Amino acid sequence: ATPTALLAATGRGAQLGILVSGPQALERLRRIDTLVLDKTGTLTTGRMSVIAMTVCAGDTGATGVSGVAGAAGAPGLTADETLRLAAAVEHGSEHPLARAITAYADLRREALAEHRPPPAARHFAATAGYGVTGEVDGRSVTVGRPGELSALPAPLADAVRTAETAGHTAVLVTVDGTPQAVFSIGDTLRPDCYRAVDHLRRLGLRPVLATGDRTATARAVAGHLGITEIHAGALPEEKAALVTTLKEHGGRVAVVGDGVNDAAALARADLGIALGSGTDAAIGAADVTVLREDLQAVPDAVRLARRTLGTIR
Ligand code: ADP
Ligand code: MG
Repeated sequence: ATPTALLAATGRGAQLGILVSGPQALERLRRIDTLVLDKTGTLTTGRMSVIAMTVCAGDTGATGVSGVAGAAGAPGLTADETLRLAAAVEHGSEHPLARAITAYADLRREALAEHRPPPAARHFAATAGYGVTGEVDGRSVTVGRPGELSALPAPLADAVRTAETAGHTAVLVTVDGTPQAVFSIGDTLRPDCYRAVDHLRRLGLRPVLATGDRTATARAVAGHLGITEIHAGALPEEKAALVTTLKEHGGRVAVVGDGVNDAAALARADLGIALGSGTDAAIGAADVTVLREDLQAVPDAVRLARRTLGTIR
C-alpha cells in the first residue's frame, strides 16, 4: 500500500477507536491467524463484585453484605475481622479482584456503622497471577489463588467449587497460615464479546482463551463463547510461553489483553492488542490499543488492515 493509503488507514483506525503504532503494525495485523484472548478485563468487563463470602466455622457461610457474620476459622477472628484484614492488603493492589474486595469491605463498614479507619498493611507484596500478601495488625495475611483444594477445610473447598462452576473466581484468604475464607467474585462477560468472537471466527481467526484463572472458571466462560482451546492457570510467563509455542507451530499470533499479567505475552506476540481501559504495562507492551469500550474493535481492526493492504476476505 502507498504511504497515503497507510496514513488514511491509521486515521480511519483512530475514528474507529483503534490506535495503531505504525505501518508495520498494520501489516502484521493483516496477517494474524491466531488470537489469544485474556479473560478477566478482556472478555469480561473486569468490573467485579463479591457475590459470596464463605468463612470456615459453623453456619457462617454467608451470601450478601448483611449475611457476613459469625466466627471464622482462627480463634478470635470473626468474618468481619477477616474481611477487614483481606481488604487492608488488597488496598495496595490495582487488580479488579482487589477492587471488588475493598468495595465489599467498604459496604460492610457502612452497614455496621464502623468508624474505625481500615487498618493499614505493612510489607505489601503482589505476585502477578497469584495474589497479594501483607502484614496487618501483626498478622500475616495472604489473599489470592486457592492452591490444592485438598489442603482446605471442606466448607472452603466447597465454596471454591461452587464459585468456579458458576464461572466466578474464587479467592482464598489465609491468616497466619490458616485458610479463613473464600470470596466468590463475579464478573460479567462484555455484552459485545459474543458478536466479536463470532466475527473473529468468520474472519478465519482461531480464538484461544488464556487466563490466570482456574480451569473450571475458564471453561464456564469459554463455553458461553464456543471457545474450545483453553489455557487456564497461566502465570504471566506461561501466557508468553504459550505465544511462543503457537508461533513455533506456524501461527501468526496476536494477543488481546489488559493486565500487568498480559504484558509479557503482548510483547512476545506478532501483534499485541491492549485495551485502553487496561493497565499502562499492557498498553506499553502493545502495538495496537483499542480505545473504545467494545471488543468489536478487534475484528474491525483486522478488517481495516486487510482492506488497506489488499486482502479482502
Ligand atoms: P486473568 O489472566 O484472567 O486476567 P490474572 O492473571 O490477573 O487473571 O489472575 C489470576 C489469578 O490470580 C486470579 O484468578 C486470582 O486467583 C489471583 N490473583 C491475582 N491478583 C490477585 C489479587 N490482587 N487478589 C486476589 N487474587 C489475585
Ligand atoms: Mg486480564
